[in-house]
Amino acid sequence: MPCEVKPRILVLYGSQKGQAQSIAEGIADEAEEKGLIAEICCVSEGDKFNLEKERAPVVIVVSTTGDGDPPDNALKFVKRIKKKTLSSDHYAHLCYALLALGDTNYANFCNCGKTIDGRLQELGAKHFYATGYADDGVGLELVLDPWLEGLWEAIRRALSKMSAPQPKRDVTDTRVSSEETFESLATDVSLHLLSLEPEPTSPNRSCVIADHKSVLGTPSGVPAAVAEASLTLSFPPLSESALNVPNLPPPYLDVVLQEATTREEVGCVAVIQEGFQEVPVSRSAKLTSDDSVKTALLVELDISAHPMDYQPGDSLDVLCPNRVSEVGELLLRLGLMDRKSHCIQLSLQKDTKKKAAQIPSYIPENSTLQYLLTWCLEIRSVLKKAFIRSLVECTEESGEKRRLQELCSKQGSADYNLYVRDPRLGILDLLRAFPSCQPPLSLLIEHLPKLQPRPYSAASSRMRHPGQLHFVFNIIEFPACIERPGGRRGLCTGWLSDLVDPILLHPGKVQSSSTSSSVPKNCSFRLPSDLSKPLIMIGPGTGVAPFIGFLQQREKEREDNPEVVFGETWLFFGCRHRDRDFLFREELQGFVGNGTLTHLKVCFSRDPPEGTETRTGPRYVQHDLLLHAKDITNLLLRENGYLYVCGDAKNMAKDVNDALMEMIAAELQLDKLEAMKALARLREEKRYLQDIWN
Ligand code: FAD
Repeated sequence: MPCEVKPRILVLYGSQKGQAQSIAEGIADEAEEKGLIAEICCVSEGDKFNLEKERAPVVIVVSTTGDGDPPDNALKFVKRIKKKTLSSDHYAHLCYALLALGDTNYANFCNCGKTIDGRLQELGAKHFYATGYADDGVGLELVLDPWLEGLWEAIRRALSKMSAPQPKRDVTDTRVSSEETFESLATDVSLHLLSLEPEPTSPNRSCVIADHKSVLGTPSGVPAAVAEASLTLSFPPLSESALNVPNLPPPYLDVVLQEATTREEVGCVAVIQEGFQEVPVSRSAKLTSDDSVKTALLVELDISAHPMDYQPGDSLDVLCPNRVSEVGELLLRLGLMDRKSHCIQLSLQKDTKKKAAQIPSYIPENSTLQYLLTWCLEIRSVLKKAFIRSLVECTEESGEKRRLQELCSKQGSADYNLYVRDPRLGILDLLRAFPSCQPPLSLLIEHLPKLQPRPYSAASSRMRHPGQLHFVFNIIEFPACIERPGGRRGLCTGWLSDLVDPILLHPGKVQSSSTSSSVPKNCSFRLPSDLSKPLIMIGPGTGVAPFIGFLQQREKEREDNPEVVFGETWLFFGCRHRDRDFLFREELQGFVGNGTLTHLKVCFSRDPPEGTETRTGPRYVQHDLLLHAKDITNLLLRENGYLYVCGDAKNMAKDVNDALMEMIAAELQLDKLEAMKALARLREEKRYLQDIWN
């Protein structure tokens, strides 16, 4: 009789904000449920795995950050596999599947995944399953869900193939021992593989047939003209369909709330995340008129008492709290309002089935409940299907339960996108809509990600404003939707706006407002050290921020070095209306007046060009660029200039990229592909730099 040895897989992840890690953990958990042994490690934990000897199928999940960079915890791994000394069969024994996460709004989509994949292939490793490229710009689920669905069959096939008799090896080959271990499992492996077949009646993959009565009290047969589908309501065929819901994520945290007894325990309310400093706001100004569509505000931080070293082009991270009203509502809804000052104590459940379960490192010991919900968890984060799946278990009412099952099911994917993902619904929105859902606090801690700081580009130079750091932001306004009739503001921009409101109302009065901030973040978006190099800056809207810093610095350098010949400077700025949202108009005109800025090109997307009634001139920055194609390509290609793009990633950065390609193709008489390569070279030489955001 064969002994109980289960086949093994190795799951590796590289993750910046926890997304790739949580997908990898889901894979490891599901693998265990399917009768496999899953080892899971971060690629940075090089001491815990050994790809050089790995014989089991390897699943890699990796995200991309910044300008196509690997996540911080994958940097070392990428460097290691890129070593030139590795031979082309270094990983010939390795068989892997890779899921790359990225966002098509940014250049270099899934670049880290592509780099790792390409390099592993160069080193002889083989795919056992096609690489997935999941796009956060349109919803990871679109690629993620089918990719995960096909993964298990691919693993099954890979394991069968690996367990098939192998040709005899040279006895001196050091890899034989580990291969033998795997081969010796062959018979057992095939027995265990039975559990990898699809299991329609598996306890965790429930198939639920809808009852034909009602969903949340409304008859499912009601014609769409009378009632429309919504977050809480569905119609046939979905409401009557059998559902494939994801596996129930294994719970892993125990939470105890303890009355705070000493001052230190409550004192944790003042804890600020590592690396952050509380910095006073010394001034603020509104840069747009009252009738502007967007409101842009300038914030001046007094950093004279803080060692915050920054250069123009760097961005600073601002840590903002969740809204007091939302934290209060959540406490009420969880039935924990009277215990908001209790300290939370977290421990791992002893018998948890979750692989690599860990207490979240970003929750300080002895945090009070209020502190946890205010400063540690992104309570507005968009609900993931796995979270909704867990919430099903905490929902009493059968109609609500069924609807939650639908929203996390394969069949309900379109509804999930329409009613959860697109309106960016968070846990509070869901709890409002599903009154019988009563999750324990532990579930929120398990599923809500860490509250992320928001980066803002510095809009000043310390040479011009010693002891200060300026930044500019647009208040993000989310339009109202059925689930959130009042609309709402972005978390950080709403908070910053409230923070500086009193300063805007009483500019002369000293205020005690402060932000928790840290710098610098983007260290490549900087001025070249060679002052003679031409600069081309493209920054519509708040994208102009870093260029104000660049120009302040240039102005000071020109004053300090009158004998030096400086390169030309061009700025392409765009906004809607000349009189409403032309940010930094006076300062920019001042730079032109004193020769710091050689060319200022401004276009207004909603105004006709000056002196005309009808629109004939350039509308957006890319149109203005095309008008000056000859000069720009000349500066860039013949005078080794530097081109910077800052601002909206969704449209502007792509349109500018296309315009540049068109200009280069025309100027150098190249076809599109060659022009793309020329742009890629500029990127490599760090002469085409982007600082873009959604
Ligand atoms: P959140 O509550 O976090 O909401 C914003 C999110 O909602 C975004 O992910 C966006 O995709 C999404 N979203 C936005 N509008 C809508 C909508 N109408 N419907 C649905 N979804 C929507 N911002 C500046 O204003 N100035 C800067 O100088 C600046 N510099 C940056 C530099 C870098 C390197 C990066 C990465 C970002 C920068 N940003 C800047 C963006 C900034 O960090 C924040 O993302 C932004 O201010 C919104 O934060 P928030 O907390 O108010 O919004």
